[in-house]
Amino acid sequence: MPLLVMKFGGTSVADLTRIKNAAQKVKREIERGYDVIVIVSAMSGKTNELVGWVEETSPLFDAREYDAIVSSGENVTAGLMALTLQEMDVPARSWQGWQVPINTTATHSSARFTSIERANIDAKFSEGFKVAVVAGFQGLSPEGRITTLGRGGSDTTAVAFSAAFQAERCDIYTDVDGIYTTDPRISKKARKLDRIAFEEMLELASLGAKVLQTRSVELAMRFKVRLRVLSSFEDTDENSGTLVCDEEEIMESKVVSGVAYSRDEAKLTLVTVEDRPGIAAAIFGPLAKAGINVDMIVQNISELQEADKTRAVTDMTFSCPTSQVARARKALEEAAAQGHIKYDTLVEDNDVAKVSVVGIGMRSHTGVAARMFSALSAENVNIKVISTSEIKISVLIDRKYMELAVQALHDAFELDKVS
Ligand code: ADP
Ligand code: ASP
Ligand code: MG
Repeated sequence: MPLLVMKFGGTSVADLTRIKNAAQKVKREIERGYDVIVIVSAMSGKTNELVGWVEETSPLFDAREYDAIVSSGENVTAGLMALTLQEMDVPARSWQGWQVPINTTATHSSARFTSIERANIDAKFSEGFKVAVVAGFQGLSPEGRITTLGRGGSDTTAVAFSAAFQAERCDIYTDVDGIYTTDPRISKKARKLDRIAFEEMLELASLGAKVLQTRSVELAMRFKVRLRVLSSFEDTDENSGTLVCDEEEIMESKVVSGVAYSRDEAKLTLVTVEDRPGIAAAIFGPLAKAGINVDMIVQNISELQEADKTRAVTDMTFSCPTSQVARARKALEEAAAQGHIKYDTLVEDNDVAKVSVVGIGMRSHTGVAARMFSALSAENVNIKVISTSEIKISVLIDRKYMELAVQALHDAFELDKVS
Protein backbone atom coordinates (compact mmCIF):
# COMPACT_ATOMS: atom_id res chain seq x y z
CA MET A 1 0.00 0.00 0.00
CA PRO A 2 1.29 3.52 -0.67
CA LEU A 3 1.69 5.43 2.56
CA LEU A 4 1.24 9.07 3.53
CA VAL A 5 2.30 10.88 6.69
CA MET A 6 -0.17 13.58 7.75
CA LYS A 7 0.77 15.86 10.64
CA PHE A 8 -1.75 18.08 12.42
CA GLY A 9 -0.43 20.97 14.52
CA GLY A 10 -1.92 22.42 17.70
CA THR A 11 -4.57 24.72 16.19
CA SER A 12 -5.64 21.94 13.82
CA VAL A 13 -6.56 19.73 16.80
CA ALA A 14 -7.55 22.51 19.21
CA ASP A 15 -10.94 20.99 20.07
CA LEU A 16 -13.10 17.97 19.30
CA THR A 17 -14.65 19.58 16.21
CA ARG A 18 -11.24 20.30 14.73
CA ILE A 19 -10.05 16.78 15.51
CA LYS A 20 -13.08 15.54 13.58
CA ASN A 21 -12.23 17.83 10.68
CA ALA A 22 -8.66 16.50 10.64
CA ALA A 23 -9.92 12.90 10.85
CA GLN A 24 -12.09 13.53 7.79
CA LYS A 25 -9.00 14.58 5.85
CA VAL A 26 -7.33 11.33 6.92
CA LYS A 27 -10.38 9.31 5.89
CA ARG A 28 -10.34 10.93 2.45
CA GLU A 29 -6.76 9.78 1.87
CA ILE A 30 -7.69 6.27 2.93
CA GLU A 31 -10.51 6.28 0.43
CA ARG A 32 -7.90 7.26 -2.18
CA GLY A 33 -6.03 4.05 -1.33
CA TYR A 34 -3.37 5.17 1.15
CA ASP A 35 -2.34 3.80 4.51
CA VAL A 36 -1.72 6.77 6.77
CA ILE A 37 0.55 7.58 9.69
CA VAL A 38 -1.00 10.53 11.51
CA ILE A 39 1.27 12.60 13.72
CA VAL A 40 -0.50 14.84 16.20
CA SER A 41 0.54 17.81 18.32
CA ALA A 42 -0.99 18.74 21.64
CA MET A 43 -4.15 20.84 21.49
CA SER A 44 -3.14 24.47 20.98
CA GLY A 45 -2.03 26.19 24.20
CA LYS A 46 -1.64 22.88 26.04
CA THR A 47 2.16 22.62 25.80
CA ASN A 48 2.54 26.24 26.94
CA GLU A 49 0.32 25.51 29.92
CA LEU A 50 2.36 22.42 30.83
CA VAL A 51 5.66 24.33 30.48
CA GLY A 52 4.19 27.06 32.72
CA TRP A 53 3.35 24.51 35.40
CA VAL A 54 6.89 23.12 35.28
CA GLU A 55 8.51 26.56 35.55
CA GLU A 56 6.24 27.62 38.39
CA THR A 57 7.03 24.45 40.32
CA SER A 58 10.78 24.50 39.71
CA PRO A 59 12.50 27.39 37.89
CA LEU A 60 15.73 25.43 37.22
CA PHE A 61 13.80 22.20 36.63
CA ASP A 62 15.06 18.64 36.16
CA ALA A 63 14.79 18.24 32.37
CA ARG A 64 13.72 14.58 32.67
CA GLU A 65 10.62 15.57 34.62
CA TYR A 66 10.00 18.50 32.24
CA ASP A 67 9.84 15.96 29.40
CA ALA A 68 7.58 13.59 31.34
CA ILE A 69 5.15 16.46 31.87
CA VAL A 70 5.21 18.42 28.60
CA SER A 71 5.02 15.30 26.40
CA SER A 72 1.62 14.44 27.88
CA GLY A 73 -0.36 16.89 25.73
CA GLU A 74 0.31 14.83 22.61
CA ASN A 75 -0.87 11.61 24.32
CA VAL A 76 -4.35 13.06 24.78
CA THR A 77 -4.68 14.15 21.15
CA ALA A 78 -3.36 10.83 19.81
CA GLY A 79 -6.00 8.91 21.77
CA LEU A 80 -8.78 11.31 20.77
CA MET A 81 -7.77 11.14 17.09
CA ALA A 82 -7.79 7.32 17.16
CA LEU A 83 -11.23 7.30 18.81
CA THR A 84 -12.59 9.82 16.30
CA LEU A 85 -11.34 7.70 13.39
CA GLN A 86 -12.87 4.56 14.91
CA GLU A 87 -16.20 6.42 15.15
CA MET A 88 -15.87 7.00 11.38
CA ASP A 89 -15.35 3.25 10.82
CA VAL A 90 -11.66 3.67 10.11
CA PRO A 91 -9.57 1.04 11.93
CA ALA A 92 -7.00 3.05 13.90
CA ARG A 93 -5.03 2.97 17.13
CA SER A 94 -2.80 5.44 18.96
CA TRP A 95 0.90 5.05 19.72
CA GLN A 96 2.94 6.93 22.28
CA GLY A 97 6.63 7.34 21.49
CA TRP A 98 7.81 4.59 23.84
CA GLN A 99 5.29 2.13 22.40
CA VAL A 100 6.58 2.38 18.83
CA PRO A 101 9.38 2.68 20.07
CA ILE A 102 10.91 5.94 18.86
CA ASN A 103 14.47 5.93 20.16
CA THR A 104 16.23 9.21 20.84
CA THR A 105 19.33 10.59 22.48
CA ALA A 106 19.15 11.41 26.19
CA THR A 107 19.40 15.20 25.60
CA HIS A 108 16.20 16.02 27.43
CA SER A 109 13.99 18.77 26.02
CA SER A 110 15.97 18.79 22.76
CA ALA A 111 16.46 15.09 22.02
CA ARG A 112 17.32 13.76 18.57
CA PHE A 113 16.03 10.63 16.89
CA THR A 114 18.39 7.70 16.77
CA SER A 115 15.94 5.16 15.29
CA ILE A 116 12.29 4.38 14.73
CA GLU A 117 11.48 0.69 15.04
CA ARG A 118 8.96 -0.22 12.35
CA ALA A 119 7.96 -3.75 13.32
CA ASN A 120 5.05 -3.04 15.69
CA ILE A 121 3.33 -0.56 13.39
CA ASP A 122 4.01 -2.68 10.29
CA ALA A 123 2.36 -5.64 12.06
CA LYS A 124 -0.76 -3.56 12.72
CA PHE A 125 -0.96 -2.42 9.08
CA SER A 126 -0.72 -6.10 8.03
CA GLU A 127 -3.64 -6.91 10.37
CA GLY A 128 -5.78 -4.44 8.41
CA PHE A 129 -5.37 -1.23 10.44
CA LYS A 130 -5.40 1.69 8.01
CA VAL A 131 -4.09 4.35 10.36
CA ALA A 132 -1.39 4.59 13.01
CA VAL A 133 -1.87 7.71 15.10
CA VAL A 134 1.45 8.65 16.68
CA ALA A 135 1.96 11.23 19.43
CA GLY A 136 4.41 13.79 18.03
CA PHE A 137 7.25 15.56 19.85
CA GLN A 138 8.31 12.62 22.03
CA GLY A 139 10.59 9.59 22.23
CA LEU A 140 12.46 7.25 24.51
CA SER A 141 16.02 7.73 25.82
CA PRO A 142 18.57 4.90 26.14
CA GLU A 143 17.89 5.08 29.92
CA GLY A 144 14.22 4.33 29.34
CA ARG A 145 13.02 7.87 30.12
CA ILE A 146 10.56 9.92 28.06
CA THR A 147 12.24 12.62 25.95
CA THR A 148 10.94 15.56 23.90
CA LEU A 149 12.36 17.03 20.72
CA GLY A 150 12.20 20.77 21.42
CA ARG A 151 9.29 23.13 20.71
CA GLY A 152 7.64 22.45 17.39
CA GLY A 153 9.07 18.93 17.46
CA SER A 154 6.02 17.19 16.00
CA ASP A 155 7.14 18.42 12.57
CA THR A 156 10.33 16.45 13.06
CA THR A 157 8.41 13.38 14.19
CA ALA A 158 6.42 13.59 10.94
CA VAL A 159 9.50 13.85 8.73
CA ALA A 160 11.33 11.10 10.61
CA PHE A 161 8.35 8.74 10.16
CA SER A 162 8.17 9.68 6.48
CA ALA A 163 11.80 8.66 6.07
CA ALA A 164 11.51 5.49 8.16
CA PHE A 165 8.35 4.27 6.39
CA GLN A 166 9.28 5.63 2.94
CA ALA A 167 6.10 7.68 2.73
CA GLU A 168 5.08 9.04 -0.64
CA ARG A 169 4.76 12.49 0.97
CA CYS A 170 4.85 14.25 4.32
CA ASP A 171 1.94 16.68 4.63
CA ILE A 172 2.17 19.22 7.45
CA TYR A 173 -1.34 20.56 8.09
CA THR A 174 -1.39 23.86 9.95
CA ASP A 175 -3.29 27.13 10.45
CA VAL A 176 -1.83 28.85 7.36
CA ASP A 177 -2.16 27.62 3.80
CA GLY A 178 1.57 27.38 3.10
CA ILE A 179 4.96 28.96 3.60
CA TYR A 180 5.03 32.72 3.02
CA THR A 181 7.72 35.31 2.30
CA THR A 182 7.33 36.26 5.96
CA ASP A 183 4.94 35.44 8.77
CA PRO A 184 1.51 36.42 7.36
CA ARG A 185 0.50 37.43 10.88
CA ILE A 186 3.12 40.18 10.86
CA SER A 187 2.89 41.46 7.30
CA LYS A 188 -0.31 41.72 5.30
CA LYS A 189 1.84 41.87 2.18
CA ALA A 190 3.36 38.42 2.84
CA ARG A 191 3.08 36.28 -0.28
CA LYS A 192 2.53 32.53 -0.36
CA LEU A 193 5.27 30.58 -2.10
CA ASP A 194 4.47 27.55 -4.27
CA ARG A 195 7.92 26.16 -3.61
CA ILE A 196 10.87 26.92 -1.38
CA ALA A 197 14.36 25.41 -1.37
CA PHE A 198 15.36 23.18 1.53
CA GLU A 199 18.33 25.41 2.32
CA GLU A 200 16.24 28.57 2.47
CA MET A 201 13.58 26.94 4.63
CA LEU A 202 16.30 25.57 6.89
CA GLU A 203 17.72 29.05 7.37
CA LEU A 204 14.28 30.68 7.84
CA ALA A 205 13.30 28.04 10.41
CA SER A 206 16.51 28.33 12.37
CA LEU A 207 16.07 32.13 12.41
CA GLY A 208 12.63 31.89 13.95
CA ALA A 209 10.01 31.08 11.25
CA LYS A 210 8.22 28.50 13.34
CA VAL A 211 6.06 27.16 10.52
CA LEU A 212 8.47 24.19 10.46
CA GLN A 213 10.91 23.03 13.12
CA THR A 214 14.49 23.41 11.87
CA ARG A 215 15.38 19.80 12.49
CA SER A 216 12.43 18.62 10.39
CA VAL A 217 13.79 20.50 7.37
CA GLU A 218 17.28 19.10 7.99
CA LEU A 219 15.94 15.55 8.05
CA ALA A 220 13.74 16.08 4.99
CA MET A 221 16.76 17.38 3.06
CA ARG A 222 18.93 14.50 4.13
CA PHE A 223 16.41 11.73 3.49
CA LYS A 224 14.79 13.33 0.42
CA VAL A 225 11.36 13.51 1.97
CA ARG A 226 8.71 15.27 -0.13
CA LEU A 227 7.64 17.83 2.44
CA ARG A 228 4.58 20.02 2.07
CA VAL A 229 2.88 22.64 4.29
CA LEU A 230 -0.86 23.20 3.81
CA SER A 231 -4.03 24.35 5.55
CA SER A 232 -6.08 22.08 7.74
CA PHE A 233 -9.04 24.46 7.47
CA GLU A 234 -9.44 24.48 3.71
CA ASP A 235 -10.24 21.89 1.08
CA THR A 236 -6.91 20.72 -0.26
CA ASP A 237 -5.64 18.56 -3.09
CA GLU A 238 -2.22 17.34 -4.20
CA ASN A 239 -1.31 20.81 -5.53
CA SER A 240 -2.20 22.78 -2.40
CA GLY A 241 0.21 24.49 -0.05
CA THR A 242 3.95 24.94 -0.39
CA LEU A 243 6.41 22.25 -1.37
CA VAL A 244 9.86 22.28 0.22
CA CYS A 245 12.20 20.95 -2.45
CA ASP A 246 15.63 21.09 -4.10
CA GLU A 247 16.87 24.40 -5.44
CA GLU A 248 16.81 23.02 -9.01
CA GLU A 249 13.04 22.48 -8.87
CA ILE A 250 12.36 26.21 -8.36
CA MET A 251 11.72 28.70 -11.16
CA GLU A 252 11.49 31.89 -9.12
CA SER A 253 14.82 33.59 -8.50
CA LYS A 254 15.00 36.40 -6.00
CA VAL A 255 18.10 37.53 -4.14
CA VAL A 256 16.14 37.54 -0.87
CA SER A 257 13.27 35.12 -0.57
CA GLY A 258 12.10 35.59 2.99
CA VAL A 259 12.23 37.58 6.22
CA ALA A 260 12.26 35.81 9.58
CA TYR A 261 12.14 37.07 13.12
CA SER A 262 12.77 35.71 16.55
CA ARG A 263 10.97 37.64 19.27
CA ASP A 264 12.36 36.28 22.51
CA GLU A 265 16.03 37.09 22.34
CA ALA A 266 18.23 38.49 25.07
CA LYS A 267 21.55 40.34 24.80
CA LEU A 268 24.07 39.78 27.58
CA THR A 269 27.27 41.75 27.99
CA LEU A 270 30.12 40.79 30.27
CA VAL A 271 31.67 44.13 31.07
CA THR A 272 35.44 44.37 31.55
CA VAL A 273 36.75 40.85 31.10
CA GLU A 274 40.47 40.28 30.67
CA ASP A 275 41.66 40.51 27.07
CA ARG A 276 43.91 37.46 26.85
CA PRO A 277 44.19 34.27 24.79
CA GLY A 278 41.64 31.72 25.99
CA ILE A 279 39.11 34.17 27.40
CA ALA A 280 36.42 33.32 24.83
CA ALA A 281 36.85 29.62 25.56
CA ALA A 282 36.66 30.31 29.31
CA ILE A 283 33.34 32.15 28.83
CA PHE A 284 31.62 30.07 26.17
CA GLY A 285 32.80 26.67 27.47
CA PRO A 286 30.69 26.85 30.65
CA LEU A 287 27.75 28.30 28.67
CA ALA A 288 27.89 25.36 26.24
CA LYS A 289 28.08 22.93 29.14
CA ALA A 290 24.96 24.52 30.63
CA GLY A 291 23.15 23.95 27.32
CA ILE A 292 22.83 27.65 26.42
CA ASN A 293 22.12 28.26 22.73
CA VAL A 294 24.48 31.16 22.21
CA ASP A 295 23.76 32.80 18.90
CA MET A 296 25.49 36.09 18.02
CA ILE A 297 28.81 37.05 19.62
CA VAL A 298 30.64 40.37 19.57
CA GLN A 299 33.82 41.29 21.34
CA ASN A 300 34.30 45.03 21.68
CA ILE A 301 36.58 47.48 23.38
CA SER A 302 35.59 48.17 26.95
CA GLU A 303 34.99 51.73 28.12
CA LEU A 304 37.60 51.05 30.77
CA GLN A 305 40.11 50.03 28.12
CA GLU A 306 39.58 53.36 26.41
CA ALA A 307 40.09 55.26 29.66
CA ASP A 308 43.02 53.26 31.00
CA LYS A 309 45.20 51.97 28.17
CA THR A 310 47.41 50.06 30.62
CA ARG A 311 44.76 47.40 31.32
CA ALA A 312 44.04 44.77 28.67
CA VAL A 313 40.29 44.41 29.05
CA THR A 314 37.39 43.86 26.69
CA ASP A 315 33.59 43.56 26.75
CA MET A 316 32.00 40.37 25.47
CA THR A 317 28.42 40.50 24.17
CA PHE A 318 26.33 37.51 23.15
CA SER A 319 22.69 36.71 22.50
CA CYS A 320 20.60 33.74 23.62
CA PRO A 321 16.87 32.98 24.09
CA THR A 322 15.30 34.93 26.98
CA SER A 323 14.23 31.62 28.52
CA GLN A 324 17.91 30.71 29.03
CA VAL A 325 19.10 33.94 30.66
CA ALA A 326 18.84 32.63 34.24
CA ARG A 327 20.84 29.52 33.36
CA ALA A 328 23.45 31.58 31.49
CA ARG A 329 23.84 33.93 34.45
CA LYS A 330 24.28 30.99 36.81
CA ALA A 331 26.91 29.34 34.56
CA LEU A 332 28.90 32.60 34.34
CA GLU A 333 28.69 33.24 38.08
CA GLU A 334 29.96 29.72 38.74
CA ALA A 335 32.84 30.15 36.28
CA ALA A 336 33.75 33.41 38.07
CA ALA A 337 33.51 31.80 41.52
CA GLN A 338 35.89 29.06 40.35
CA GLY A 339 38.36 31.72 39.16
CA HIS A 340 38.11 30.85 35.44
CA ILE A 341 36.86 34.29 34.41
CA LYS A 342 36.73 37.78 35.95
CA TYR A 343 34.29 40.51 35.00
CA ASP A 344 32.87 43.68 36.54
CA THR A 345 29.19 43.26 35.71
CA LEU A 346 26.82 41.25 33.58
CA VAL A 347 24.44 43.59 31.75
CA GLU A 348 21.22 41.93 30.60
CA ASP A 349 18.93 43.33 27.90
CA ASN A 350 15.84 41.15 27.73
CA ASP A 351 13.97 43.34 25.25
CA VAL A 352 15.61 42.58 21.94
CA ALA A 353 14.52 40.65 18.86
CA LYS A 354 16.36 39.26 15.87
CA VAL A 355 15.26 40.04 12.32
CA SER A 356 16.87 38.28 9.35
CA VAL A 357 16.72 38.25 5.58
CA VAL A 358 17.37 34.94 3.81
CA GLY A 359 18.04 33.99 0.20
CA ILE A 360 20.28 31.66 -1.78
CA GLY A 361 20.67 34.52 -4.29
CA MET A 362 22.97 36.24 -1.78
CA ARG A 363 25.71 33.83 -2.81
CA SER A 364 25.99 35.58 -6.14
CA HIS A 365 24.74 39.11 -5.40
CA THR A 366 26.34 41.92 -3.46
CA GLY A 367 24.71 44.90 -1.79
CA VAL A 368 22.11 43.01 0.22
CA ALA A 369 23.52 44.17 3.57
CA ALA A 370 23.63 47.81 2.46
CA ARG A 371 20.02 47.64 1.27
CA MET A 372 18.94 46.01 4.52
CA PHE A 373 20.70 48.55 6.74
CA SER A 374 19.39 51.54 4.80
CA ALA A 375 15.82 50.21 4.99
CA LEU A 376 16.19 49.95 8.77
CA SER A 377 17.83 53.33 9.00
CA ALA A 378 14.95 54.91 7.04
CA GLU A 379 12.66 53.69 9.83
CA ASN A 380 15.06 54.91 12.52
CA VAL A 381 15.68 51.40 13.81
CA ASN A 382 18.98 51.10 15.65
CA ILE A 383 21.01 47.94 15.01
CA LYS A 384 22.67 46.47 18.10
CA VAL A 385 24.45 43.39 16.72
CA ILE A 386 24.89 42.07 13.17
CA SER A 387 25.73 38.57 11.99
CA THR A 388 25.95 37.11 8.50
CA SER A 389 26.37 33.80 6.75
CA GLU A 390 26.45 32.81 3.10
CA ILE A 391 22.69 33.10 2.64
CA LYS A 392 21.44 35.30 5.50
CA ILE A 393 21.94 38.57 7.34
CA SER A 394 20.60 38.98 10.88
CA VAL A 395 20.33 42.01 13.12
CA LEU A 396 19.49 42.36 16.77
CA ILE A 397 17.19 45.32 17.46
CA ASP A 398 14.87 46.61 20.20
CA ARG A 399 11.86 44.30 20.35
CA LYS A 400 9.38 47.17 20.03
CA TYR A 401 10.60 47.76 16.45
CA MET A 402 10.44 44.12 15.37
CA GLU A 403 7.19 44.25 13.37
CA LEU A 404 8.16 47.55 11.78
CA ALA A 405 11.54 46.12 10.76
CA VAL A 406 9.99 42.98 9.24
CA GLN A 407 7.57 45.07 7.18
CA ALA A 408 10.26 47.53 6.09
CA LEU A 409 12.54 44.72 4.92
CA HIS A 410 9.68 42.93 3.16
CA ASP A 411 9.03 46.18 1.24
CA ALA A 412 12.70 46.94 0.60
CA PHE A 413 13.26 43.57 -1.08
CA GLU A 414 9.87 43.71 -2.89
CA LEU A 415 8.89 40.31 -1.60
CA ASP A 416 5.22 40.95 -2.33
CA LYS A 417 6.01 40.81 -6.04
CA VAL A 418 6.73 37.70 -8.06
CA SER A 419 10.19 37.94 -9.63
P1 ADP B 1 1.35 24.24 14.28
O1 ADP B 1 0.71 24.35 15.60
O2 ADP B 1 0.42 23.79 13.20
O3 ADP B 1 2.63 23.47 14.30
P2 ADP B 1 2.85 26.71 14.28
O4 ADP B 1 2.24 27.82 15.07
O5 ADP B 1 3.97 25.97 14.90
O6 ADP B 1 1.68 25.74 13.84
O7 ADP B 1 3.34 27.25 12.86
C1 ADP B 1 2.45 27.95 12.02
C2 ADP B 1 2.64 29.44 12.21
O8 ADP B 1 3.92 29.81 11.73
C3 ADP B 1 1.71 30.31 11.41
O9 ADP B 1 0.50 30.52 12.09
C4 ADP B 1 2.50 31.60 11.22
O10 ADP B 1 2.08 32.60 12.11
C5 ADP B 1 3.93 31.21 11.57
N1 ADP B 1 4.90 31.56 10.54
C6 ADP B 1 6.08 32.18 10.77
N2 ADP B 1 6.73 32.40 9.65
C7 ADP B 1 5.97 31.92 8.65
C8 ADP B 1 6.13 31.86 7.23
N3 ADP B 1 7.22 32.34 6.63
N4 ADP B 1 5.14 31.29 6.51
C9 ADP B 1 4.04 30.80 7.11
N5 ADP B 1 3.84 30.83 8.44
C10 ADP B 1 4.78 31.38 9.21
N1 ASP C 1 3.27 20.52 21.28
C1 ASP C 1 4.66 20.82 21.03
C2 ASP C 1 4.87 22.32 21.04
O1 ASP C 1 3.93 23.08 21.21
C3 ASP C 1 5.18 20.18 19.81
C4 ASP C 1 4.53 20.64 18.51
O2 ASP C 1 3.41 21.16 18.52
O3 ASP C 1 5.12 20.43 17.47
O4 ASP C 1 5.97 22.77 20.91
MG1 MG D 1 4.59 23.96 14.90
